Amino acid sequence: MQKQHDIVIIGAGIVGLSVASLLTELPLSIAIVESHEVPSWSPEAYSLRVSAISEASKKTLAKAGAWSAIAQKRISNYTDMRIWEQAIDASESLHFSCKDIGTENLGSIVENALIRAELQSSLANSDLHKANITWYCPDKLSALQIFESHAEIQLQSDINIKAKLVIAADGTNSVTRKIMHLPEVSRSYAQYGLVAQLQTQKSHQHTAYQRFYDKDVLGILPLANGDCSIVWSCSQVKAEKLLQLSDELLAQKVTEFSQGVLGDITISQSAKIFPLQLLHSRQYVSERVVLCGDAAHAVHPLAGQGLNLGLLDAAVLTEVLIDAWKANFDLGDLSLLRQYERKRKGNNVQMMTVLDSLFAVFQSTNPVLQQARRIGMGLLNQVKPVKNSLVEQALGLKKL
Ligand SMILES: Cc1cc2nc3c(=O)[nH]c(=O)nc-3n(C[C@H](O)[C@H](O)[C@H](O)COP(=O)(O)OP(=O)(O)OC[C@H]3O[C@@H](n4cnc5c(N)ncnc54)[C@H](O)[C@@H]3O)c2cc1C
Repeated sequence: MQKQHDIVIIGAGIVGLSVASLLTELPLSIAIVESHEVPSWSPEAYSLRVSAISEASKKTLAKAGAWSAIAQKRISNYTDMRIWEQAIDASESLHFSCKDIGTENLGSIVENALIRAELQSSLANSDLHKANITWYCPDKLSALQIFESHAEIQLQSDINIKAKLVIAADGTNSVTRKIMHLPEVSRSYAQYGLVAQLQTQKSHQHTAYQRFYDKDVLGILPLANGDCSIVWSCSQVKAEKLLQLSDELLAQKVTEFSQGVLGDITISQSAKIFPLQLLHSRQYVSERVVLCGDAAHAVHPLAGQGLNLGLLDAAVLTEVLIDAWKANFDLGDLSLLRQYERKRKGNNVQMMTVLDSLFAVFQSTNPVLQQARRIGMGLLNQVKPVKNSLVEQALGLKKL
């Protein structure tokens, strides 16, 4: 079956849905191809996957017509962040507070399923936009050919789509990136992230915690129902062992690892594990194809930046496309797509380098680096301008 659209978006994760929503101000025919049904969200129970999102991301989601509904339904703002490592005690942790930078909070913890559900419902509200949205779901991109005037996309269902532009938001293992042979730099951290939710004896007090110990990182994020979400990054072998433990034993391990900072812990939602990867596509664009979000770059979740970077991609890409459409440009033109690449690549590489170095420094067992780490954290706590500048960068309040 032959179909025709102006733009095809591959992947309806948060980034793909944001791109689609941000483009609805144009009278375009947009196709969304997604291999899985978009998960629903329910107020009854917290969904397992949550993300810490920045002010910049909230602005993008607001522009996409989703933030006010998300904020009304369920978010957890955090006001403080405490980071400590193996050699020091939780009481000596590096402390960031929203008061130091004059903001109301440092960010918000939001369920991924809620963000997707609200983006999807904003897209379905046809009174609010000019675009015509067609879903191909569940369906999969299986082949892609580029011609001078258009791209041809073959779906697994045998549907064939002609379009001016293909936007790949199909995640870390992007099939689009692979079909187009866009060169990538990738490195497995040989780590997995174990995600679970906990009830804690002491109140989280709207504080996010992060502890580095040996090769592991434990992030604890405060949730709106008083529980916490954890991401425990560790070796694959260890993650699989932790996953096999009973909830009681896992809770005990988390209490030990977090040095009892939140008192005794019980597991309120059982754990799952996710592989972690560092990936960067050397090219974000080629004729009639553009990559965004995890399809272009994947980072370690230790600083909660992956989605924030992807939402910045979505904001910049759609700005470039909207301006080009108004100027009557061909939306698949390579020189146009390169404007987006120039605007985003440097910024993404810088953030990835910072995160990768941070990971290397905290993972090092070299005693000199361990000592430097201890001194560095102590100094950083005292030098407020440097500390505040770091936190502003991480929150997207300041450009890198
Ligand atoms: C444990 C963990 C914790 C994290 N915490 C944070 C955090 O606190 N803050 C933060 O900013 N980031 C965080 N991240 C990173 C964040 O989750 C990702 O950066 C973000 O979800 C990427 O979104 P995306 O839309 O680009 O890709 P994805 O969410 O991977 O979406 C890709 C979509 O494409 C679809 N798809 C794939 N292939 C095809 C195909 N061939 N055809 C059709 N559809 C296809 C998939 O089904 C999927 O729906 C975390 C990551 C992990 C692993």
